[in-house]
Amino acid sequence: MAKARKRRESAIVVVEGNGELTEHRQAIASQDRRLNFGDRWDYAPAPESNSYIKLRPKYPLFINGKFVAPHSGKYFDSINPATEEKLTEIAEGDAHDVDKAVQAARRAYETTWGNLPGRERGKYLYRIARLIQEKSRELAVLESMDGGKPIKESRDIDLPLVAAHFFYYAGWADKLQYAFPGRTPRPLGVAGQVIPWNFPLLMAAWKLAPALAAGNTCVLKPAETTSITAMHLAEILAEAELPDGVVNIVTGAGNTGRALVEHAKVDKIAFTGSTDVGKRILKAISGSKKKLTLELGGKAANIIFEDAPIDQAVEGIVSGIYFNQGHVCCAGSRLFVQEGVFRQVIRKLRDRISTLRVGNPLDKNTDIGAINSRMQLDKICELVDSGVQQGAELVQPPVRLPKRGFWYPPSFFTGVTASHRIAQEEIFGPVLSVMTFRTPEEALERANNTPYGLSAGVWTDKGSKIFKIVNKLRAGVVWANTYNKFDPTSPFGGYKESGFGREGGAHGLLPYVNLE
Ligand code: NAD
Repeated sequence: MAKARKRRESAIVVVEGNGELTEHRQAIASQDRRLNFGDRWDYAPAPESNSYIKLRPKYPLFINGKFVAPHSGKYFDSINPATEEKLTEIAEGDAHDVDKAVQAARRAYETTWGNLPGRERGKYLYRIARLIQEKSRELAVLESMDGGKPIKESRDIDLPLVAAHFFYYAGWADKLQYAFPGRTPRPLGVAGQVIPWNFPLLMAAWKLAPALAAGNTCVLKPAETTSITAMHLAEILAEAELPDGVVNIVTGAGNTGRALVEHAKVDKIAFTGSTDVGKRILKAISGSKKKLTLELGGKAANIIFEDAPIDQAVEGIVSGIYFNQGHVCCAGSRLFVQEGVFRQVIRKLRDRISTLRVGNPLDKNTDIGAINSRMQLDKICELVDSGVQQGAELVQPPVRLPKRGFWYPPSFFTGVTASHRIAQEEIFGPVLSVMTFRTPEEALERANNTPYGLSAGVWTDKGSKIFKIVNKLRAGVVWANTYNKFDPTSPFGGYKESGFGREGGAHGLLPYVNLE
């Protein structure tokens, strides 16, 4: 008995995949230790209640402070991507509705908002921010039901950031002259704003808050698969007694967006979405006097050096690509690992993604929710197939996916070369392409070898290396030893085909003013 106890004390006990305990007499070096959860770490379901959510059967347009039926009388279905069940119907705005909205915005600009002192505009923005905070639980549930994102993200990331953006720009409304020392900022007039589906309410906040703070009025066009929270925001704007016409929301698909972009009485277009549509918008408004900002796609490099804290880096890789199912413009979708730690990083990453829970977005334990639409799922599948056909190796943990709804497991590819489509094109899903490098110079060259330039990540223990690399990366945002961190005080935007103009921070006011 005493002998057996002694042997156990000097041994390392490892839980194998099948749950059996085995003793290893030799110590295992820390870089070779495996994460092994066996089947003992299961979670009971922890669903967030949605029983109190009241969806209207139909969501009309919000024009001139009123909810109005669309000119065509047409509505389209909005479905829950996790269940494929119809949630409600959304109005399909056409050129006539867009025109009404632009006229309302123009009137509001000329008669009220454009002449209101900054401190009064600020009061409205503070009021909107506080109402968003009050209703944030309900809005987070709606965001997860409509878009498929895990409730822990919509509750802890999206909604706090939405409120923070309104608070932040409320503070700027009466201090604009300090943002542009020695210059006099003047509002532009009517801003036409078109947003995507990956952060529906957050993208609305990024657009509306700086535009309103600077004295402009707005016509917002949400994405067709995620319009519900924008319409609940309209209710908040009405409750805040924002003067009629200051914000108008016209729902619909690409044609509605095009009508807004091409409307002659719009002074400024702010677009967030794909690079393809961004290019079309650039062509459509060339020759006009409209100002333009484009926040487009990305294919960010996340670079792991040998001297990086590897366990933290693996967490950064996970949050870089699997956050919001990879539906993130700045996702760290190209991973560059220095050769000396490649084996270790891949092994840890493989172990780590096998612990991610895929499923019901309303379950508080869920890490990866539903893919936003069937169209997006088809796009992910097509690009993954191309990766396999071009010879890369696909790694996917065994995951049981729900029978209904749109799902994709967390995945990564090794054996990727720069010419593979999965190394070049934005997948916009939970799929990572892993490549290696030997020297910092090679890492830089490969990271910059993309038409995009939105974001990047660098992982190293050496501060000097961070500064050297960061200054040579052609990306608008670079995170060092972290990833996907957002703050309203910090500007965000791209280079090259990722667009131009900045949102966030004092920089985010510039696209909404003329400087005299
Ligand atoms: P998308 O370009 O298909 O659509 C974006 C919006 O544009 C939608 O509201 C859509 O209805 C509208 N639209 C479509 N055609 C239009 C046209 N011809 N004229 C005007 N509007 C039109 O993009 P998506 O699939 O909704 O979003 C995903 C893309 O958005 C990704 O490429 C992602 O990288 C990008 N994105 C970029 C940022 C950023 O800040 N850079 C942030 C989020 C998303």
